[in-house]
Order: sequence, then C-alpha cells, then structure tokens
Amino acid sequence: MNDQKRIFLSTPHMSGKEQKYVQEAFDLNWIAPLGSNVDAFELELAKYNSMRDAAVVNSGTAAIHLALRLLNVGQKDIVFCSSLTFVASANPILYQGATPVFIDSEPETWNMSPQALKKAFEDAKKEGKFPKAVIVVNLYGQSAKMDEILALCNSYGVPVIEDAAESLGSTYKGQMSGTFGKFGVFSFNGNKIITTSGGGALVSNDESSLKDARYLATQARDQAVHYQHSEIGFNYRMSNVIAGIGRGQLEVLDERVAQRRTVFERYYNSFKNIAGIKFQPELEESKSNRWLTALTIDPQITGVSCHEIIEMLNKENIEARPVWKPMHLQPLFEGVKYFPHDKNNSVSDCLFEYGLCLPSGSNMCVEDQERIIAHIMDFLK
Ligand SMILES: *Cc1c(COP(=O)(O)O)cnc(C)c1O
Repeated sequence: MNDQKRIFLSTPHMSGKEQKYVQEAFDLNWIAPLGSNVDAFELELAKYNSMRDAAVVNSGTAAIHLALRLLNVGQKDIVFCSSLTFVASANPILYQGATPVFIDSEPETWNMSPQALKKAFEDAKKEGKFPKAVIVVNLYGQSAKMDEILALCNSYGVPVIEDAAESLGSTYKGQMSGTFGKFGVFSFNGNKIITTSGGGALVSNDESSLKDARYLATQARDQAVHYQHSEIGFNYRMSNVIAGIGRGQLEVLDERVAQRRTVFERYYNSFKNIAGIKFQPELEESKSNRWLTALTIDPQITGVSCHEIIEMLNKENIEARPVWKPMHLQPLFEGVKYFPHDKNNSVSDCLFEYGLCLPSGSNMCVEDQERIIAHIMDFLK
C-alpha cells in the first residue's frame, strides 16, 4: 500500500464561519433542543432556495420519511422510486410498510427515465392501483428531467418527493434543485457538498405541511401542558449546535459548487479525448453542483474495467467507488417490480457495471488530483 496520505472521495470542508454560530449556541447555553440557530438555518435555507419554508431534521433519510408520512403513505400503498440511488431514498418506503416500485434511469442525466415512468403509470392504471407518491433522485448533483417527470405525475395527480440530497445548489432551468416537487429533501451528511456532520432538511411551499413535519419530528406532542400524544411521532429534529454548523456552511455553498465544478473540469479536460470514457452528462439548461465526478469506462475500448481502476487506485491509497448499486439489484428488494428504460435496455444496470466516482472533495488540492489523473493515465496505457 502506498504510504502517502489517503485521498478520500468527499470529505467535510469547513470554512471557519461555522464556529461563530456554534459559539453563539454555547454562549446562550442553547445547546438543545431547538433554538435560534435552528430557526435562522431554516429561514436561510428556504431563502437560498427561494422557497416559503424549510424544516431541518437530523438526517436526509428522516426528511424523506417525514415527506412520505405527510403524504399519508401507509401499508398497502405503492411508491415509485428511482432505482439508481443510495438505499436511503427507498428505506423510508419500507418504514411506512409500503411497497416500492423501481424506475430505471435514462442516459442523458442518469436519473429517472420519463419513458420508464410512463410505462409504470400505464401498468398501474391497468392494475387499478396508482402510487401514493413518486420519489425522484438527482444523482451526483445532476437534476432529473423534472419538466417531463412532473408533467406525467401531475397528469395522474400523484405528488413528487424530490430527493435532492446530492444536488443542493444545483439548478434546472434556472430554478433551484429540490424545489420542484411537493417536498424537496436535502442531506447534510459528512460526505455531502455541505455538512453539519449529520443532518437533513425538508423544503416546501406548503407551510402548513412543514408545520406538521415539525410536530411529527418532535414526538407528535399535542397542545397540552401534560405530555399527551394522539399519533406516532419521531425524534427527528436537528439540534441547535448542529444548526450553527449548517449556517456557516450555507454561507460558502456557492463557493463549494464552484470548487466541485473545477474538480470536474480538471478530470474532464484530462480524459475527454480518451475513447471509451464518458462523463455523466450535464443536461442543457441545468447546472450540476458536480458533487461527485462520475464517469463510465467501456473495457472493450479501454482494455481496463472500472473495477480494476478502483482496485488500482485503492492500492495507491486513493478512494474511488462504483456508481450506486441499483435498488432493483439489491437483495433487500428482491422480487420488487422494476421498469427499465427500454424492454431490452436497463440503463442503470449498465451504469452500475461501467460507472465509477472519483475523489471530488472541494478541499482536495490540485497536486492530489494530478496524482489521481496520472495514475489513471498510466493504467490506461
Ligand atoms: C445521502 C443521501 C440520502 C440520505 O441522507 P442522510 O442524511 O445520510 O440520511 C438520501 N438520498 C441520497 C440520494 C443520498 O445520497
């Protein structure tokens, strides 16, 4: 193993501004539970995304769970969900006892295929059972084709939850990613573009739903001095200390987007002329935060597979990863219904087979990135 310092896929990148807000929480002894940082972070996050309201919680997964609950998803219900994603998009469907149906990607954004979604809706119509919600994921920072997806979902009257855990700060047709559905979800997990060490948010223009989200996230306590509860609640709220980190991070979000895009550009310029290598495309009229630089490698052309590259980089103490393993291939979801992009073409299967993500941290130095590029160049020869 190479003894140089390990280069990670994506690490927290603090700005120094976080400590001011954390200190405020300490000075006021407002450590927990809620408090001024939580209120301010919610306001600032809503404003950044031009939304009426945001509710911050302790994870992105919790935010998805709350969104499903607010849409009354329960047992016997079906939820459509992107297949090519991290398991956190789909687990909350199971928390609610509902059944997922997975939808393939299309090749232009790697996100939910409107064509496959259409087939899933037609099938649902035939079966006489429509989904209660559709969870659309924006992979690695790239927005899905929201216009087409929303048109389909609206025509069937089914609400959309936009899992924008990876696409905070990205845009689609000039509008912030995560603001297209009934609910948008962000994550502040340690590997995301900004982090609170762990945390998440639900955004919506429906202020009354977000009021309900805050109530459900604090154990669903009724208006009474004594502790009275009429329905199941959760302990999902974000602490006031953590929210202070979020406020400092949000101030540098645009800078982080620019830095991640610069990382992408360097990889792109190095590999763009190599036959068999293709980068995750950026849809016209959209701007990806390029959270992770993702690309596919066709071993028939390059002579090496993405798995061999990942292994080689690991020996050089560099962390690279395959593209997410699609949900319809997970043992957890064996037997679950799946709609491919084309009858004979499952796009997410191909992306999983040929795709990899390279270290993309906004705090990665140029020398480290050049080391990664040089190792890959050598290996391709
Ligand atoms: C990170 C992530 C989540 C979950 O966020 P947590 O804050 O880790 O719970 C959900 N969906 C996607 C696509 C993610 O990448």
